[in-house]
Amino acid sequence: MASVYFTPGPAQLYPTVERHLQQALNSQVLSQSHRSQGFKDLYKRADAALKELFNLHAGYEIYFTGSATEIWERSLQNLTARHSFHLVNGSFSGKYLEHAQWLGREADAHQVPFGEGFDMAQVHVPMQAELIGIAQNETSSGVCTPVTDIHALKARYPTSLLSVDMVSGAPYAQLDFNLVDTAFFSVQKGFGLPAGLGVWLVNERCLAKAASLQGQQYTGGHYSMAMLHEFYQQFQTPCTPNVLAIYLLTHVVEDMLVKGLDTIRKETEAKADMVYGFLEESELFSPFVQEPAHRSPTVLVAEVHGKPASSVISKLKEQGLVLGSGYGKYKDQHIRIANFPAVSEAEMERLIKALKLL
Ligand SMILES: *Cc1c(COP(=O)(O)O)cnc(C)c1O
Repeated sequence: MASVYFTPGPAQLYPTVERHLQQALNSQVLSQSHRSQGFKDLYKRADAALKELFNLHAGYEIYFTGSATEIWERSLQNLTARHSFHLVNGSFSGKYLEHAQWLGREADAHQVPFGEGFDMAQVHVPMQAELIGIAQNETSSGVCTPVTDIHALKARYPTSLLSVDMVSGAPYAQLDFNLVDTAFFSVQKGFGLPAGLGVWLVNERCLAKAASLQGQQYTGGHYSMAMLHEFYQQFQTPCTPNVLAIYLLTHVVEDMLVKGLDTIRKETEAKADMVYGFLEESELFSPFVQEPAHRSPTVLVAEVHGKPASSVISKLKEQGLVLGSGYGKYKDQHIRIANFPAVSEAEMERLIKALKLL
């Protein structure tokens, strides 16, 4: 029997991926030129499906890159001349800050300890911040930031561009894209697809900012926003993209739309409640994140008591249940359980049953 992957990326594949993959092969879409009408039609379809999924207004554009990591860099290159601000509560939000430092930006940050969320009343963004970076879901620690807190940042700092890393929260997180200026994800987490594609959503404010920096900052390059924007007008990409990943994404997003995002959200919450309920009662495990409002519904992190986490992980693996290990120095103390849409309620029940029997 095939294993079930509860790993936070790469993750369990969405159940319809196999069928779409076969269909991609049968239709020979993977051999067709990326300058063909067929590709333009595919990009257009991806664009429409993603706009519907995230409820994006018409001013939004959607670009494809190699990864979310690339978008950390591109967003800072294209949207800041000097100054960015970052909310940091773990490794992934910390890497966005690190990219700003690598690019020589004056990067300020509000940092809280690993495992904690943000008290927004304590967050003060300097006026000169051109971009505010935040991870909606911090995959390393299992802390999520409630979307209402993210939206409130926009109300307080309307002139800064609000950039949301939603890699491990999408499509669950219900962001209001009238308040968010740019957001991005890669496909191997909540979308249950093979890795190798970054998706970047940008609004007209970002385009205007990028245009205003032309000639001062990052001007050239195939992946400048100016170039992405120009090609996007024809549903084209600056270079040969990952057509297979775009094809699979388009079809999986359409499947999710048929199922309904409300249903997916309800299922996500029901599965998360089940797991947290178990962790609260267990003697072997406890939720790592103390504040219930900051416990992620999509990546759940548990502390393991009295034995190394690796023994739990290997025991479960023998039963075909693949857990994520703790991030970085927490490798031996934590397990991480991805609760993405690809994992069914029955599979989550099976996992909890196996954890109970340890
Ligand atoms: C996985 C992850 C990334 C990086 O994604 P890549 O596809 O490896 O570039 C960025 N941010 C968060 C929150 C993540 O979980």
